[in-house]
This record gives sequence, C-alpha cells and structure tokens, in this order.
Amino acid sequence: MSVKKFKLPNKGLSEKDLFNEMKEKRKEDARWQEGKTFSLVFYPGAEALSVLKKAYLEFFSENALNPTAFPSLRQMETEVVAMTANLFNPTGKTAGSMTSGGTESILLAIKTCRDYYRKKRPDITEPEVVMPTSAHPAFDKGFHYFGLKVVKVPVKNDYLADAKAMESAITKNTIMIIGSAVSYPQGVVDPIKELSKIAQKHKLWLHVDACIGGLVLAFKRQLGKKVPDFDFKLPGVHSLSVDLHKYGYAAKGASVILYKDSELRRHQFFVTTDWPGGIYPSPTVTGTRPGGAIAAAWAIMKFLGVDGYKKLTRDLLDTTDSIKDAVAQIPGVKILGEPAMTIMGMGSDELDVYQIGDHLLERGWMLDRQQNPACLHLTISPAHIEAKERFIQDLRWAVDEARKSSAGKKMDSFQVGLVSTLARVLPKPVTTKLMKAATKATTSKGGAKKSAAMYGMMGALPNKGDVKEMVLTFMDKMFSP
Ligand SMILES: *Cc1c(COP(=O)(O)O)cnc(C)c1O
Repeated sequence: MSVKKFKLPNKGLSEKDLFNEMKEKRKEDARWQEGKTFSLVFYPGAEALSVLKKAYLEFFSENALNPTAFPSLRQMETEVVAMTANLFNPTGKTAGSMTSGGTESILLAIKTCRDYYRKKRPDITEPEVVMPTSAHPAFDKGFHYFGLKVVKVPVKNDYLADAKAMESAITKNTIMIIGSAVSYPQGVVDPIKELSKIAQKHKLWLHVDACIGGLVLAFKRQLGKKVPDFDFKLPGVHSLSVDLHKYGYAAKGASVILYKDSELRRHQFFVTTDWPGGIYPSPTVTGTRPGGAIAAAWAIMKFLGVDGYKKLTRDLLDTTDSIKDAVAQIPGVKILGEPAMTIMGMGSDELDVYQIGDHLLERGWMLDRQQNPACLHLTISPAHIEAKERFIQDLRWAVDEARKSSAGKKMDSFQVGLVSTLARVLPKPVTTKLMKAATKATTSKGGAKKSAAMYGMMGALPNKGDVKEMVLTFMDKMFSP
C-alpha cells in the first residue's frame, strides 16, 4: 500500500474520535499488564506508574537541549546520573550523561572510546574491538556507524565470555573490549574481573554493558547476596551503561552512560562553533532531549528509593527462583547456564522449544525466540510476581502439547537458526502472514498448526546469505502503511 492512502485529515478529528481510534488500534497489543510479555515492558505497579506519568507530564513541554534554559532539568539529570553512579562503586571523578536508552549509551561509549584513542594513539588508524558473541546488537550497530572493526569471540559452554580467547584475539589495533553484566540471551555475568585485568595489561578500554542487569545486580548485592564484581571497583572498567527504563522502572527514553573519569567523558561531548545559528554544544547523540523522560526517571528513583528497589529486587529474585524450580521439575525443558538474576533462556534437548513457544502463545504468553542454541527468552519483571503460577501451569501444558505433536521430529539446527532469526526480527503479523503463505504452499500433516506452518516456512526459505536481504525487505514493508 502506498503512503498516499494516509493523508493528513483536512479537518481535525474530535478528541473522542481520536481516542476511540487509538483504542481500536491497540486491541491486538500484547497484554503486559497481565504479565503476558517477557520483555519490552517493566511495570512497577499502579502507584509507581501514576507517579511516573505525573512527573513526565509535569515536564512534558520542556527540552533539555539547552541546560541554561531549564536549570530544573539540568539538576534532575545530574542527580539521576549521580544516584545511578553511586550504585556502582564510583571513583571521585566518575561522570556521565542521561541518554534516550541503552543503544544511545552504547553508541556514545563506542564513539567516546574511539575519539579518546584517536588522541591518545594516533598511530592506530584502523581501530578494532573484541567482544563476546553474546554482546547486544547495539554494539554491532555502533561499530557499523562509527567505522570500527569488530572481532567476535564465541562464549564458553556456560555462556560466559571466554576471557582467554578474547585476549588472544587482541591485535596491535585493538582499542576496546566488551563484557556484559548481564548478557541478554542467557542472563549471565561475564568474567569482568579477568577482562579488567586484560584491559589494564594491554592498555585497552573495557566497557561493561550493564544496561539490563546493572540495577538488579546492584540491589541484589545490597541484599547481601553474592554478585561478582562488575563495576568501577575494577580499575580496567572505563565505561558502564545502565538503562533506567528497564529495571529502573523509569519512563521509556531513559538510560545512563557512566565513565570512570570525567576526562574520558569530554570526548563524548560535541560542539560546533562556526554555525550561523550560534555556538552549538550537544552532550549526547540526540539534539532535542525530552524533559519528561528526565523528570520521570528522577521521580521514580526518588519515589522508590533504595528500600523500594530492594523490595522489588527481592520479589523478582524469588519469582525467578520459583520459575527455575518449576522448569527443573518439568521433563523436557531446562534453564541454560546459571543465570545471575532475572533473565534466562529456556531450552530443550529433546523437544522443539519453538513449538513450546507456539503453544504458550496460544495462551497469550509472549516469549522471544533465541538461536545458537535454540531457546526461549524470559525477562522476569514485577508483573510476573502475580502471574507466575498461571505461567507455570501453562508451561506444563505447552510442554505436553509439544511432546504429543513433535513425535521425535527435531529441526535441523541450521534451519532453526534461520527461522528463529526471522521470527525474532519480524513483527508477529508479518511472521503470521509468512506462515500462512507457507502453509498454503505446503501440505501439513498433523502436528500443531503453527509448527506445521513453520516447517513449511523453512522449506520456503532461501539460503542464509539471502536472509538479511529478506529481513531488510520486510522492514521496508513494516514501516510502510
Ligand atoms: C536492552 C539492552 C540494550 C539496548 O538498550 P535499548 O534501551 O533497547 O536501546 C543493550 N544491552 C543490553 C544487555 C540490553 O538488554
């Protein structure tokens, strides 16, 4: 369909009509309030949500681009950065910025490191980064944007970064190494202590991606539980990213990038002095910076306080333990590795785990599919504290169903990789369409409907090299009317 179909209405709609239309549009949206999603939404409860919304609206119109115009936002941002930094063993010189999200924090860490080494090591003209395969795609994006070469090192059998192999991958051009606390796919803490030593020995920049794990790990530690060192306590750690819009429960558009020393952060800032519009300084990637996101982050941190975060963290860890215990009792599924907190991958040695995912979806549970190895992803958030018993029940049912229908049929791992890539990248409606088309094209015999379609879809897939092109085409479709 062409963009021409959706024109700006000549006459504005009434408020009533507008909200009715929005209500209609969101009918098919994921029901995160009931704990049906395992990523994307971090719901802190009705009371906290109301505080968040009020704070956001209070600063809805303000723009933090110019810190002198709105001293309130400047103060709140500085306080948010400081409150966050204080959870991660800051040095006296630790400094940072608020950003729009984990991706922007990571982009900035990469750019800042690159610019720092340009000055410090001008002899390195083709800088390289060494990172574990488990590191978040935001890094790939950053290296692509900023022109750095990345060397990816496979994780070990326990899904932790292989520090020794990473050290072996260092060349005379390496400037940066990456570790996660925790990694997204399996929720484990990489051996940051070893990586810190390697960074020091080879004079490299170590970035710790604590986007999703930082806050839970910090409060788990404050609860007196064991957490491996991963922050500025380790001298090799140069920068650390922490998302507030995940386990900080802030409104979307809030993350923090921290540097061990404000001297490093200087390389993050951008300023142009010859523009006819005036001198233009910009601390982060974005120009206009929404005041609401800053105010909401500030408000939720002050509203929850250490006690509030500790309580949420304790409840989440308990909920995770219950789900882990339940999975251990269900033959056919298992948690991969030893997740350090509330993020985990659930796989299977005998069943098709994607089929289990299909059945869970029949009952409304949305779990993302992962690959290498095939597993389903669980991010436990406060909505699951209430929902866990229902989830465990439905998981038992889904595993039984998968056992009935799979009858020993186990997908070839290469095909599984392709399908899971597509299923993960593409929005549900597109996957559904694809599957429908594939089902029409193939004759499915027995088995769960969706899985049959999945097999059909695999048959219709081209080789792996074409998958990227296919996904790009789908993206084009997806962002069109
Ligand atoms: C979510 C996440 C990111 C990216 O953050 P966005 O806010 O989605 O841009 C980076 N790293 C990890 C480990 C994450 O979980």
